[in-house]
Amino acid sequence: MLSVPMRTFPSLFVGQRSVLTADEAPVNSEGSHYVCGACRNDLIRADRAFLRDVVVKCRCGEFNQL
Ligand SMILES: [Zn+2]
Repeated sequence: MLSVPMRTFPSLFVGQRSVLTADEAPVNSEGSHYVCGACRNDLIRADRAFLRDVVVKCRCGEFNQL
């Protein structure tokens, strides 16, 4: 399975996007598998369209986006 690392960025730049935590992220078995850009732990399984409008906060505290 291909795991795609996401890009981390400062929380200052969250802006208009919705923030999800890794624990509350919906599971979409059709999508790609994304991992945290900092610690490489599992973050979310989703398609790209969904990730355009959200940032995912990892359990390590980093904010990730595509
Ligand atoms: Zn992390």
